[in-house]
This record gives sequence, C-alpha cells and structure tokens, in this order.
Amino acid sequence: MEMEALTKKKWGFRANSELSMSSDNTVRAVLYMLLSKINQSEPRPVIPLGHGDPSAFPCFRTAQVAQDAVVDSIRSAKFNGYGPTVGILPARRAVAEYLSKDLPYELSADDVFLTLGCTQAIQTMVTVLANPEANILLPKPGFPYYEAIAKSCHLEVRHFDLLPDHDWEVDLDSVNALADENTVAMVIINPGNPCGNVYTRQHLQKVAETANKLGILVISDEVYDHLAFGKNPFVPMGTFASITPIITLGSISKRWIVPGWRLGWVVINDPKGILKQHGIIDCITAYLNLSPDAPTFVQGAVPDILAKTKDDFFKKIVGIIKDCANICHEGIQDVLGVICPSKPEGSMFVMVKLDLSVFDNIKDDVDFCVKLAQEESVIILPGISVGMNNWLRVTYAIEPSALEEGIRRLKVFCERHSKKP
Ligand SMILES: *Cc1c(COP(=O)(O)O)cnc(C)c1O
Repeated sequence: MEMEALTKKKWGFRANSELSMSSDNTVRAVLYMLLSKINQSEPRPVIPLGHGDPSAFPCFRTAQVAQDAVVDSIRSAKFNGYGPTVGILPARRAVAEYLSKDLPYELSADDVFLTLGCTQAIQTMVTVLANPEANILLPKPGFPYYEAIAKSCHLEVRHFDLLPDHDWEVDLDSVNALADENTVAMVIINPGNPCGNVYTRQHLQKVAETANKLGILVISDEVYDHLAFGKNPFVPMGTFASITPIITLGSISKRWIVPGWRLGWVVINDPKGILKQHGIIDCITAYLNLSPDAPTFVQGAVPDILAKTKDDFFKKIVGIIKDCANICHEGIQDVLGVICPSKPEGSMFVMVKLDLSVFDNIKDDVDFCVKLAQEESVIILPGISVGMNNWLRVTYAIEPSALEEGIRRLKVFCERHSKKP
C-alpha cells in the first residue's frame, strides 16, 4: 500500500469544516491578524479602535461597589462550589428585579438563565433553535459571532438589512421577504453593535408586530443596555412581550465594563407562555446542563452588583462614552474618504463608509486596515468582518486623548494615500 493511501486509511478524523471556516471571520480573529501587522520598530503606542473592551483604560474602571461585591463573595466562602446549571437563585432573582424596573410587568427568577457572558447566551439560543431545515434571520451589518455559532451547528443564516439612511433601522420589507415556514427567529442588537444606533419605541413595536405576523421569535441582544446618549432613550424589547414572545440576551460586561467577569443571561419575556408550550424553555435548561456555568463567586456577587451600583457611576461612564462619540464623529468629518452617515447615539461603535475612489492603491477595507496598522499603528475593524464591504467599524470607547491621537493618525494616513492631482 502506498504511504499516502495508508495515511488516509489510518486516520479517520477530520476537522469540522464549518467551524474552521467561520472562526476565521470572528472579530477577534481579524483583530489578531491586524495586530500581527503592526511594525515592531514603531515607537508610537498602538491605538486600539477595533475592539469593544475599554476596561484597560483607567477612566473606564468599574464601580467600587462592584469590586467589593466580588471580594465579599469570595471571602464569604459560600460560593466555592458548583451552582445549579441555570444559575443560583439569588442571582437569577436579582437579574429579574433589575430588568423588571424597565418593563411594564414583573419578570420572575424562573424567567432568567445565567450564562458565561452574553457570548454563551447567544450560543445557547442559537443551539436551542438549530433544527435541520431551520433558518435564522440576522442583521447586516451585525455581530459575526451569531453567524459563526449558527454555522457550527448547521443552522442556515439569512441576512436582513439595516438601513444606514434611516438610523440603521431594520428593513422590515427584507425581513418579510426572507422569512419562510422554516424561519425560527430574528435577531436585533439594541443599542447597536456595530452601528451605534438606538431604536425608537415605535420601531421596536413594528419589529414585534412583524415577528408576530411571521410567527418567529425575536432575540434581542441588549448587552449595551442603557449605553444610550442621543435622542432616543434605551427601551427594552421585552416591553413588547404582550405582542410576541421575546428573548433578551444581556450581561454585566459592557455596562459595568467587566467583560472578564463572564456573567450574562438569557431572559424569557413571554407572559402568554408560548415558548414553554413549544418546549423552548426545557431545551434551554437541557443545553445549560451540558455546558459550563458562569463562575459561582461572580454569581454570588450579582445581587450586590445590580442593587448597589449608583447612578453616578453609570452617568460618569455614559458621559465619557458620549464625549468620545462626539470626538470621533466630529474628527471623522475632516478625514478624507471616510463618510459617517449616522451620528453614534449608543453602544461603543460607529460605522463609517470608505470612498475608495479618492485613494491611490487601496484595494478594499481589509487592505485599508492592514496598511493603517502597518503605517500608523492604529487598529480599526474592516467592515467586511461585520458584513459590510468597504466600511469600517470604529470603537470610540477608549481614553479620549488616545482617541484624538488615533483620529489624527487616520487623517494623516488618508491624506498620504489620496490621489494626487
Ligand atoms: C460584547 C458583545 C457580546 C458578548 O458579551 P460578553 O458578555 O462579553 O460575552 C454579545 N453581543 C454583542 C453585540 C456584543 O457586542
């Protein structure tokens, strides 16, 4: 037998091809690629406008009471063991109370499932809905993790558009056109990543009515809850649970700036009990029985984190992010070839469009971001990573002085690469 044939026969394993392909395109994978392009002899510091984790900057330090809550939880020695796979009761109850403050009805602890960050909340819901033949509707641009997980469990993905000229509202016509009898859910992200938009109450109601008409679930990713600083206040999608069942995903990662603490939730907003009837709740429990839990000591701290963090902390953080959003939006107005259709009003991001016709020798958004990393040590996420070719997603939640420096370098870069007359 020839050597090659023997090798083929001997090893029966193969990597999951869907997984290998889809994970190249996660935000983290693209940012690692860009970081590897940084010129090592460049003396200037790297300006990270690519990721949404401001925890490294002193001005974004979390609340003292939140830190104390975790320390107290550890010192109590009550949370050193395994918890129930759905989360410990006091923490579930605390999340129900926290979210109920903004809802027209009361959630109960049974409506709340604790997860390892919002990331695992996404994984849970996508996996629970992934039957053969089923499809899920995702926003474009969006958060690529949904797509990566859907692909890894063979759930078909269809994309509806968000409309840049209408404050990134959902194109409900495209939702209607895409949905069929195998569509299980649509996902919205509000406040928006990557668009930095905040949906109006009226628009959310229309989303609920559309989902109800189509008989599909709404999954509302509210990991940026309350990070809203423009004309629209944050309205939780669960407000419309009397129209149609809603599943809310969230975490403490963004509002408290502690993404390393890994605590999130899946919350059922379904006063009519439709999801229970369809076995969705049992399936969520079954999935959580299989998967790792949020650290018990962080769960132990949740009641204090949620109840004791004062408005001053949130006001301070939202104030800094708002100032950053303004610096970014105004700064970008004078950058050649970069167009911002919609002023950011929430989350930590803005989407801007490249006008490639003004540049010499820039092929596309990825080429732009690679050269920007190489020449200016500035990291920005190419739009293709969030589904929009020749756009960029800029994170402005960084120390304001670093942000200003980043925008200055971006401007110099664009001028240097512009077509000369
Ligand atoms: C950051 C982010 C998540 C993940 O949140 P974690 O709590 O850190 O796991 C989920 N969805 C969106 C839209 C995000 O930006």
